[in-house]
Amino acid sequence: MSSLPRKRFAQHWLQSEKALDKIIAAAALSKSDRILEIGPGTGILTRRIIPEVKYVVGVEIDRDLCKKLLKNLGNQENFLLLQGDILTLDLDGLLAANPSFQNQNKVVANIPYNITGPILEKLLGTIAQPANAYELIVLLVQKEVGDRLTAKKGTKAYGGLSVRIQYLASCEHICDVPAKAFYPPPKVDSVVVRLQPQTAEPPAKNPRRLEILVKQGFANKRKMLRNNLKGITSGDRLTQILEQLKINPQSRAEDLSVSEWVALSNHLASD
Ligand code: SAH
Repeated sequence: MSSLPRKRFAQHWLQSEKALDKIIAAAALSKSDRILEIGPGTGILTRRIIPEVKYVVGVEIDRDLCKKLLKNLGNQENFLLLQGDILTLDLDGLLAANPSFQNQNKVVANIPYNITGPILEKLLGTIAQPANAYELIVLLVQKEVGDRLTAKKGTKAYGGLSVRIQYLASCEHICDVPAKAFYPPPKVDSVVVRLQPQTAEPPAKNPRRLEILVKQGFANKRKMLRNNLKGITSGDRLTQILEQLKINPQSRAEDLSVSEWVALSNHLASD
């Protein structure tokens, strides 16, 4: 192994050619693509992407790995490595000095699982403040999270995260990746997901309200929606709106599709 993996940076080196092939195919790379890769690690994915695209910007937190990456890939003209924390690094500021590496259109990454939530928020923004920064995002994430991102209403995995992310992007499950595809194997299985950021149709009239509504609605998954939303509107008013929307008034949060959440929020917004 070229580098001893560090636990604190959630380092698990992907070893499966099959999984790498799937990630590359899902990203539908072309020579005009400008890629952001989070956590290139030993560069196993990076070296596959570089020849297919216009450029790759890699953001890697681990200084020792950065040295190795530069040694191995530093001679590639269309690769720029930035050392730092993807969550706090001022990407635009740093790229101001590197105009030929600005305006990434896709993200391709095997991300550190301990910061999946913050990375998703960084890439997609929030309901109230969508980021609208990328055309396509292909990520290797832990299966439990990936399943939530792609869950359909009424299923066990469908929750507040599903609604929030699916409001911001269409989400597709590409493939499962077993723990043994990595060194060292993580405790959990993984999946490749593809997210295509888009403006929800119809959009929420009051996105902040939708955000609060979803949070409250899923606060207690076993309770009926009208009980979870007591602090927001009366049970009678909610029953009335749900009937208007042809949604069973006995519904729980997980029974509503993303567009039904938006419709509910928009009805409440006009109260
Ligand atoms: N892409 C590589 C490594 C994935 S492991 C592969 O497929 O084999 C996750 C990588 O993210 C590690 O290289 C780790 O050092 C890096 N990392 C962890 N936290 C990070 C952060 N906050 N910002 C940028 N990179 C980070």
